Amino acid sequence: RRAHYAALKNKPSVTRDGVEITLLHNSGLVADLPMLEDTGATGVGLFRTELQFMIASKLPRLQEQVELYSEALEIAGERPIVFRLLDIGGDKVVPYLRSMAEENPAMGYRSIRLGLDRPGLLRTQIRALLMAAQGRPLKILVPMVTETFEFRQTRLVVSKEMDRLRRAGELVPSRLELGAMVEVPSLLFELDQIMPEADFVSIGSNDLVQFLTAADRANPRVSKSYDPIALPRLRAIRLVVDAARRHNKSVTMCGELAGRPMEALALMAIGMTRLSMGPASIGPIKELVLNLDLKPIQESVAAALSVGSDGVTIRELLREWVDRQN
Ligand code: PEP
Ligand code: MG
Repeated sequence: RRAHYAALKNKPSVTRDGVEITLLHNSGLVADLPMLEDTGATGVGLFRTELQFMIASKLPRLQEQVELYSEALEIAGERPIVFRLLDIGGDKVVPYLRSMAEENPAMGYRSIRLGLDRPGLLRTQIRALLMAAQGRPLKILVPMVTETFEFRQTRLVVSKEMDRLRRAGELVPSRLELGAMVEVPSLLFELDQIMPEADFVSIGSNDLVQFLTAADRANPRVSKSYDPIALPRLRAIRLVVDAARRHNKSVTMCGELAGRPMEALALMAIGMTRLSMGPASIGPIKELVLNLDLKPIQESVAAALSVGSDGVTIRELLREWVDRQN
């Protein structure tokens, strides 16, 4: 299988009916970045910066952060990396940072909430990213945005750090893009407000599905009961795709959904063309893309989303389609 997938790496990632699908890696440390060469992925759609913090025994200093980000950019070369700001809390425990025990850590003091509340931490990380990117384009992603206001606050911190570096005569990124993660359901109802302010958006399906279904992503006893591509969830995801299109912004799926064939199929069927996943999934998803006639699936999924599917699940619908192909 490996040799088979390796042979696909230089083929353009385009469906049989001509839709280009951008495949990206989820990553978090530099160890797996050289795999970009093996998979032929376009870049890193999600770099989880909290991993450096999770494996450390104390807060990584500015210079250590700069080193990690520079090395990552170095290895990726021309391929873009989307660096996500610290997403600590919830299932991502950093013992030396948690100061309170919380009843509901997934819905607690975490991620950008913590970042905005402890601006020293956020400033340091943003400074490290700007310093690492010197002279090159930089993409930064804000996790767990609940309200547009938080995104605006984060952008303010970024602008201040940019100004500070400029005044100090340092080299700054040649271009900076700031994106928002859509993973808290409230933001689904503020898409027309967040879109004009964000340079791009990414959907975090792991959290989005957890919060939409009120089912803990880390607890299979409940999370397994709710199909992430069932109609209600797929409708939610489509809201983001449609809003991004209206506002002419790029939207990437960076939750685990994107790396699973049936789920990836559902996402492409609702118009998602940028999928970020674990490196090992690139080969299988690329193969799926290359053998895909997207149009007919788009039509049947669109019909199911608007008028319902008569008790047939999206998964069954897609399964039937896949079986017909084989
Ligand atoms: C997500 O929530 O889907 C996501 C991509 O981020 P994480 O899994 O790191 O929370
Ligand atoms: Mg998340």
